[in-house]
Amino acid sequence: MVPDPPAGNSTVRGGDRSHGDGNTKTVSCKDVGVDCSFTVKADSESELKKTLENHAREKHNMKEISADMKKKIKSHIKEVASR
Ligand SMILES: [Zn+2]
Repeated sequence: MVPDPPAGNSTVRGGDRSHGDGNTKTVSCKDVGVDCSFTVKADSESELKKTLENHAREKHNMKEISADMKKKIKSHIKEVASR
């Protein structure tokens, strides 16, 4: 009988590779032209955008985040090394 290869060496296959690459991503309302000191920090870009979009909806009464705004957010995302 052939033993199964040890699992655990091949955990990264497809999926969300933007998550947990070691960098924290950050963007603030000010960056996208809103006069507000709110800054988001997250481990992944999708998480970051989600948080900022929720904030914009609740605090700035933006019912919808326009494609233009999303583009702006994306272009202002900064990566900070967490080590
Ligand atoms: Zn804000």
